[in-house]
Amino acid sequence: MLANGKSGACSRLKRDVKIAYYPEWYPVNDHITLYQRHSKPCVWTCARSCCERNSELTCVWTHLMGFLFTLQGFRLFMQKPDDDFLHPGEERFLFILMFVGASCCLGFSTIYHVIFSHSEPYYNAALRIDLCGIVLGTNTPWYTWIYYSFYCERGIQIILMTLIAICGIAALYLLTTCSSLLRECMAKQRAMIASAVFTLTFPVYAMVFYRDGFMFALHDGCQRWGILAFAFGISAVVIYCSKIPESLYSGRYDYLIGSHAIFHVLSASCLWITMYNCMALQERRFEIGEICPKY
Ligand SMILES: [Zn+2]
Repeated sequence: MLANGKSGACSRLKRDVKIAYYPEWYPVNDHITLYQRHSKPCVWTCARSCCERNSELTCVWTHLMGFLFTLQGFRLFMQKPDDDFLHPGEERFLFILMFVGASCCLGFSTIYHVIFSHSEPYYNAALRIDLCGIVLGTNTPWYTWIYYSFYCERGIQIILMTLIAICGIAALYLLTTCSSLLRECMAKQRAMIASAVFTLTFPVYAMVFYRDGFMFALHDGCQRWGILAFAFGISAVVIYCSKIPESLYSGRYDYLIGSHAIFHVLSASCLWITMYNCMALQERRFEIGEICPKY
């Protein structure tokens, strides 16, 4: 282990190297030593660099593939006949909202990783778009989930949907109007906000498990997919914050398996499992029909 003096000298050296090679605004990962992508003041060069060996290689491709898979899933889901829904109009609307939100999340993230290295204005605009995509991706599946999970309790359904809509609109408003938010809100703080959003969802899940009974909700209620989505989501935030594996072995995971690429795979998996959860809830409700238990 390094003594304090050596460790201080090391971090000073890293800071000096960063200042020498990267502009002030550039989001440098201190643990990537060889293949960190450099600032490229040309959109075409930025796009071409996504096929070169650098830290953004897997970040771009993981979410681009995720975006294309989501579009394909959307296409297949829309082929479902109206006879497979109890209320085709409102159910289809909620699913369209969910697929559009997920596509925006994955698509906007791809755009961010392709062009952020162009210049500071591009970085700020791309980051804003990326964060708006995350809000849409995390907000929109909730309407579908609440619709089916509280199908027999219209009052709770409307209250929860309204709260989620207010939170989503407020987050989008702040991200699109408050420019200082982007500069001041660093990566770690963003991860803390994401964790806080996750914990806000606990009471809603607790309501469902308390109402239906744990084992029934888990199996017959199809909520096991929600638990799995949580596990992926929380793992994604932990990996993002701790920068594992490159923080443990600096310079060894410079591309392909960086923490951000793992975060992309885990967050996309969380999104797909949540969407699958909503589809399972829809099929279950279709099987049950309009029957509601007496609480
Ligand atoms: Zn990303």
